[in-house]
Amino acid sequence: MLPPVASRFIAGESDAEVLEHARQLNQGQVGAICNKLGEHYHTREQATADAEAYERLVADIGDSGLRACVSVKPSQLGLFVDEGVFRANLARVVTAAEAAGVFVWIDMEDHTTTDATLDAFEHHAVEQGGGVGVCLQANLRRTPEDLERLAALPGKVRLVKGAYDPPADVAYQDGNAVNEAYEDCLRYMFEAFEDGIAVGSHDPRMLTLAADLHTRHGTPYEVQMLMGVRTDDQFELADTVDVWQYVPYGSRWPSYFWRRVLERKENALFALRAIAGS
Ligand code: FAD
Repeated sequence: MLPPVASRFIAGESDAEVLEHARQLNQGQVGAICNKLGEHYHTREQATADAEAYERLVADIGDSGLRACVSVKPSQLGLFVDEGVFRANLARVVTAAEAAGVFVWIDMEDHTTTDATLDAFEHHAVEQGGGVGVCLQANLRRTPEDLERLAALPGKVRLVKGAYDPPADVAYQDGNAVNEAYEDCLRYMFEAFEDGIAVGSHDPRMLTLAADLHTRHGTPYEVQMLMGVRTDDQFELADTVDVWQYVPYGSRWPSYFWRRVLERKENALFALRAIAGS
């Protein structure tokens, strides 16, 4: 069972719990991006089991009428087993989601997976005429070129700074350089995209720039933030812009929980206080 200290960052272990969390977010005008925790699978069985779980979840979201969608990881759907396994599992999820009227995001993992992930996204974006989105990482040097490729396609793009640690020949290492790259990418997106822009960041500097670019160009956009991070601001922002919260759930929560706790001093203090008080 999920301990109370983890419930700041994770909605629960079951589908029922993630749907209930989505219902509560919707009451505050925030949408839910449901992510069943799981990654780096090396067997076909694990990947297929999660694809089936997503098929059930998107059907339940469709029946519930909730403002919710899903976000899947390529290595969760079998990319490290075989690219064909990933493509087949992704197709199952996308087909079920399309039938249920539910949007599917594809997370971006480490830089060795970028080509396979973008190829799979392009296939579904063209075939479905939308209904799918993909994440791009501003820290990768290749991202401006990838954005040019994606600008011509239907579907959405979530821009993030990048959560992995790629080598210097493929990625900016310095935080300032990553921030500047993020800003340049955002400027390009608001000029070149007609819609489908998702700003995946908690950084007030990036959120202010996005709002300014929206005022200047009129291009619609949405903001996406993680569950448990700047939660009050998410509800406040939802008065003026479309806000979606990325909501992890499922039994594989421990590694995600520790990643969140260890990435910021404030989160570590929060966890220590919660554990000490329990
Ligand atoms: P940071 O540089 O971490 O922080 C900048 C500023 O934001 C801080 O100075 C502070 O003002 C504010 N801030 C940040 N965190 C907090 C906090 N906990 N509390 C209060 N203020 C805070 N990465 C991938 O590589 N692939 C993905 O598919 C992916 N998907 C994502 C989806 C979503 C919805 C989000 C929000 C992030 C995703 N990420 C993904 C992670 C992303 O790459 C970054 O690692 C992460 O978002 C941290 O970067 P940041 O832009 O929030 O700013």
